[in-house]
Amino acid sequence: MTATATRVLVLNSGSSSVKYQLIDMNDGTRLAVGLVERIGEQTSRLAHTPLAAGGDKRETEGAIADHDAALKAVAAELAADGLGLDSPQLAAIGHRVVHGGLKFTEPTVIDDAVLKEIERLVPVAPLHNPANITGIRTAQAMRPDLPQVAVFDTAFHATMPEYAARYAIDVETADAHRIRRYGFHGTSHAYVSRKTAALLGKDPSEVNVIVLHLGNGASASAVAGGRCVDTSMGLTPLEGLVMGTRSGDIDPAVTFHLKRVAGMSTDEIDGLLNKKSGLIGLCGDNDMREIRRRIDEGDERAELAFDIYIHRLKKYIGAYSAVLGRVDAVAFTAGVGENAAPVREAAVAGLEEMGMAVDASLNAVRSDEPRLISPEYARVAVAVVPTDEELEIAQQTYALVNA
Ligand code: ADP
Repeated sequence: MTATATRVLVLNSGSSSVKYQLIDMNDGTRLAVGLVERIGEQTSRLAHTPLAAGGDKRETEGAIADHDAALKAVAAELAADGLGLDSPQLAAIGHRVVHGGLKFTEPTVIDDAVLKEIERLVPVAPLHNPANITGIRTAQAMRPDLPQVAVFDTAFHATMPEYAARYAIDVETADAHRIRRYGFHGTSHAYVSRKTAALLGKDPSEVNVIVLHLGNGASASAVAGGRCVDTSMGLTPLEGLVMGTRSGDIDPAVTFHLKRVAGMSTDEIDGLLNKKSGLIGLCGDNDMREIRRRIDEGDERAELAFDIYIHRLKKYIGAYSAVLGRVDAVAFTAGVGENAAPVREAAVAGLEEMGMAVDASLNAVRSDEPRLISPEYARVAVAVVPTDEELEIAQQTYALVNA
């Protein structure tokens, strides 16, 4: 790496998509952002926005066969703006990797041994790690000389004490199959808990924060003095809060019942709980804007879905207040948390005895900046803190290659 290399390309490779951002680490400026969708279909789509060049979004449609073709198309778009992967200013590529198991608790420079270990984790993350691996291999083939760094979604949760991470099942069976609570959305929980401390003018080590990451996937975490002590997702992202399409917490016996009584296969049950449950299963919509619109029109199913969503959220706020003992802040983030004022209002309603309240006029403000929405008298700060997983991945990547 040369002294002038200050850019990091962040790649988030999903099973049929690649999201990317090219970030200048001098000041965190986005030089380009984009997304390739529907990889492997005839109707693949690449949307690229050359922010540095002040250009408009460029969209191309047409078959992109695989991740290799997708990354080549992304590289061509970047090169068209003078930001090609061959640029000496590129310091590293940072990859989001969903599952790091017990081994990867820090960002890691990827070599053959690391890649093998990420492969070994495929049985515990069959939906995510294979796509991440494909993205890494493709990027390595394009720039074999460049450091490639894996930043793991599970890493921030590695500090959970054993009594929070272990399921109360037979220890030998659990260990033989690496069954335990790993947690996800870790880069977001890390970033948001730190930003929340900054908003309070404190060091992360001084504050206890409950982070509510409410996107299409949703998770809560309890962060004590900058360290995660509990989180709502488990072996997989299915556990915990009610999500856009996932059930979250459920009696495991429901799955036996679906198999024995309803005659469903394991894959069907997996699909039901991951893709056809949560808000979409309850009311047919998973977009909170649409659900609120239906509630305003008097739709009872949408209202019940909202109430179930909020009830679960409240239970986690209560549980994590008990786990932390003292709560300094509750931080809402991600698509729903940052934008849906009614969700924030309802989740905190009635928690005055716990020192939590929301000021209606502050809650109604729309902004991209971290902000407090609690009244001055409230003992616990309630905050809206926009997440930035790509910046967090870029920062961790850059810090590692400069260490
Ligand atoms: P993910 O990264 O998990 O796909 P996001 O964090 O982008 O999800 O959140 C997407 C969700 O955010 C949408 O499904 C929608 O429910 C919600 N959302 C986005 N904008 C708004 C808004 N203005 N008001 C209410 N909800 C919103």
